[in-house]
Amino acid sequence: MRRYVYRCTVCRTSSPVVRQLDDLAAEGEAHRLALHGGHIPDAEAVGQVDRLGRLYAALGPLIAMHARIADGLSDLRDPKGMGHPFWASAAATLILGGAAALVFGVISAAL
Ligand SMILES: [Zn+2]
Repeated sequence: MRRYVYRCTVCRTSSPVVRQLDDLAAEGEAHRLALHGGHIPDAEAVGQVDRLGRLYAALGPLIAMHARIADGLSDLRDPKGMGHPFWASAAATLILGGAAALVFGVISAAL
């Protein structure tokens, strides 16, 4: 389940989370018309967000990978909700830690 938001850095507001790119474009257009006379605010941001409302593009690669895994696990139980249950964050951390340990083990065995 993909989630998107429109963020206006001038007003320092974010749109409600939407599920479709068409809805995202409508949110941005409605905000620009209502508050900025149709002008495009500098440094506005749009994009896919995780279940915590963070833009994936603004996250570092390791944190983004953790968020995608935790989002996927959380979507198994609650596909339309927001937020991560503790078990999903913990499982994502274990998966990433296990993958790092596996890579480290393979490299150690090869040397
Ligand atoms: Zn604005």
